[in-house]
Amino acid sequence: MNRGAAGKLLAWYDRYRRDLPWRAPPGRRPEPYRVWLSEIMLQQTTVATVEGYFGRFVARWPTLEALAEAELDDVLHAWQGLGYYARARNLHRSAKLLAREHGGRFPDSEEALRALPGIGAYTAAAIAAIAFDRPATAVDGNVERVVARLFAVEEPLPRAKPALRRLAAGLTPLARPGDHVQAMMDLGATVCTPRSPRCGICPLAPDCAAFRSGTAEGLPRRETRAARSTRYGTAFWATRPDGAVLLRRRPETGLLGGMMEVPSTDWRDTRAGPQALAGAPARADWRPVPGGVRHTFTHFHLELEIVSGVVKDWRAVEGVWTPVARLDEHALPSVMKKVVRRALSHSG
Ligand code: SF4
Repeated sequence: MNRGAAGKLLAWYDRYRRDLPWRAPPGRRPEPYRVWLSEIMLQQTTVATVEGYFGRFVARWPTLEALAEAELDDVLHAWQGLGYYARARNLHRSAKLLAREHGGRFPDSEEALRALPGIGAYTAAAIAAIAFDRPATAVDGNVERVVARLFAVEEPLPRAKPALRRLAAGLTPLARPGDHVQAMMDLGATVCTPRSPRCGICPLAPDCAAFRSGTAEGLPRRETRAARSTRYGTAFWATRPDGAVLLRRRPETGLLGGMMEVPSTDWRDTRAGPQALAGAPARADWRPVPGGVRHTFTHFHLELEIVSGVVKDWRAVEGVWTPVARLDEHALPSVMKKVVRRALSHSG
């Protein structure tokens, strides 16, 4: 595999590129705002899911300036269901920063893009290449897979990452680097797929070491993962005598930072038992809600017990008392939606 193969890949891309809502028509440069928005949404989320969200987002906030003027809660609300809400908060912070300090323009170098909140090496390279046609090398899971196969790299991930990055950089052509990045992404998504790669229709098959050796499907190799641990906590379904439910905002930093929640204890490695009640947000006769909820985050499982109680002395309690019918006006993360469903089904 050499730079010459990049020409074959571009020819393939010109014929078979995916028609995605954030892409510009062939030969035109896309708007940096749309590229940035799509790349942030695509971190941790599939193209199929992002397509709908992207359309709604740009319909509501068609420009960077519009997003900079939006309320954070509205942005978080529109983000509901995409998960990893830190991305939405960083998006909003970046929009404000760019509007205030950069005259509403995106920087066009990887280095300057990386200085923006929520933009790591991959996203900076993807934006620099796609929006500004810089010869940047954007390496995500799709590209790692394609490169591992092209060069038949046997070293397992994640150890192989630096080598795969170097090999990917060696493929980046000086002409049309932005289209090259997108072509690699499309090839990984539609032809060089994790299972059953379609080598028979692949433009790079003549240059592919894994195809020649018949090892494509087993690559890239991965080191076996440690099992996810489990953490435990207690959520407090606190209601006022009129039925309104207590929500509060989580601290800005940490998992689900800045999101609204049903008040809960810290999440720890062991069950707290009755001592959990010491972390209650108010005084009440707390009763267990059978079942609790279980939720899986990227690195751990969470088991939340739920207790419910009516708070008589509610005026001094910190948080937002919300009628049940208006709970969905808050951007609750998925785990907290599960808590709400469980508590409501228990209370009938
Ligand atoms: Fe992937 Fe097969 Fe193409 Fe090699 S020939 S890049 S393994 S699809």
